[in-house]
Amino acid sequence: MHEVGLMRNILDAAIERATQEGAHHIYTVEIRLGEAAGVAEESLEQAFEIVKKDTIAEMAHLQINHVPTVSYCPNCNIEFQPIDLLYECPECHQPYCEIRQGKELEIASLAIS
Ligand SMILES: [Zn+2]
Repeated sequence: MHEVGLMRNILDAAIERATQEGAHHIYTVEIRLGEAAGVAEESLEQAFEIVKKDTIAEMAHLQINHVPTVSYCPNCNIEFQPIDLLYECPECHQPYCEIRQGKELEIASLAIS
């Protein structure tokens, strides 16, 4: 489950940030998860339960904010929300357009004290 590694990186960053601010506990870790990040929400939640043990985030709750995918077609110079994994432009139907948003997996905010 590669989500454990991803979640450990996120939690390490969260703990580092909290520690820098002089906090002793993390209560909520809020993250932004893009639809095209290729990560399952359920797996992330399970990974969080594993990696938070014996850290200052032991009691923390994970809140996941979903970020919709936005693609860009250079032919039509438009941004659009892809309807499937082909990222096909709705105007000219070119597949595999650039993904401008939706690959996020990052900390949005922390509740600490
Ligand atoms: Zn197009």
